[in-house]
Amino acid sequence: MNVDNTALISIIAPCYNEEAVVHHFMEEIERVITTMENPFELIFINDGSSDNTLKKLITLKKRYDYIRVLNLSRNFGKEAAMTAGIDYAKGDALIPIDVDLQDPPELIKEFVIKWNEGFDVVLAKRVDRSSDTKAKRKSAELFYKFHNKISHVKIPNNVGDYRLMSRKVVKAIQSLPENQRFMKGIFAWVGFNTATVEYVRDPRLAGETNFNGWKLWNFALEGITSFSTVPLRVWLYVGFVIAFIALIFGSWIILKTLIYGIDAPGYASMTTIVLFLGGIQLMGIGILGEYIGRLYIEAKRRPVYIIDEEY
Ligand code: UDP
Ligand code: MG
Repeated sequence: MNVDNTALISIIAPCYNEEAVVHHFMEEIERVITTMENPFELIFINDGSSDNTLKKLITLKKRYDYIRVLNLSRNFGKEAAMTAGIDYAKGDALIPIDVDLQDPPELIKEFVIKWNEGFDVVLAKRVDRSSDTKAKRKSAELFYKFHNKISHVKIPNNVGDYRLMSRKVVKAIQSLPENQRFMKGIFAWVGFNTATVEYVRDPRLAGETNFNGWKLWNFALEGITSFSTVPLRVWLYVGFVIAFIALIFGSWIILKTLIYGIDAPGYASMTTIVLFLGGIQLMGIGILGEYIGRLYIEAKRRPVYIIDEEY
């Protein structure tokens, strides 16, 4: 489908305690979109910020009439905030973007060019992540490798949420009923005709990252359990292997006892084996727990987010 330059584009910007950057962000966005012909709407989602973000957003809205502000009733997390924006957006194309200017608004032009060429998804790929810490880069790389090994849905490496999606893609995303929304996985799961543009990721303009080690670890677990059942199924094979080893070991002990008689009780080996198996079993139960916990939350069918007010 070819798109003309009257098609509305929605920019979706989740904000959590971003009072230090929203104004700069707005300046950058304004600078980019005034050079473009398409009409825009900019949806800010205030994700329960505890600072003055909401006030600042409302002030901005008075100045620019293409801004809409959604205020969530509390902090629901970036995935939920983004989902709220996606649900409320009216555009023919949607662009989720971080407000800390780590996603350069300049790229919007390239997104739209690719969209006009007929692509339904345009991804922004980070070619240089030196602005992220080494630990973050390494753990991200490991996560993608592991995730893509055990899941049918392949998440492209070094691609964040910053992208353009056509209305067709948005409809597909909204047709997924799950309320634990691991957006990177959901985006990849729906597929469609995809183009990629490359960029260098800048450091955060001001303020602090909301994703520390523990949050990222849980995010990774969420991603893996949302799109793969391999961690559940692997225990069948672990069980097989251990049972097989036990069989061999048991036969050997029986034979040895029959031939040489009973020797001194093997306290050390016994303890080791019991502890080892106990550990393995607890790990298996833990993984079960991860999935059951998620089933439990999912079964409640709670909404993904609650809107307090739309400004
Ligand atoms: N964000 C949000 N809710 C949260 C955490 C983050 O809406 O609970 C927003 C945040 O305001 C920013 C984007 O998500 O626009 C990315 O957050 P951040 O820059 O902290 O993540 P990083 O770039 O370090 O991965
Ligand atoms: Mg950031």
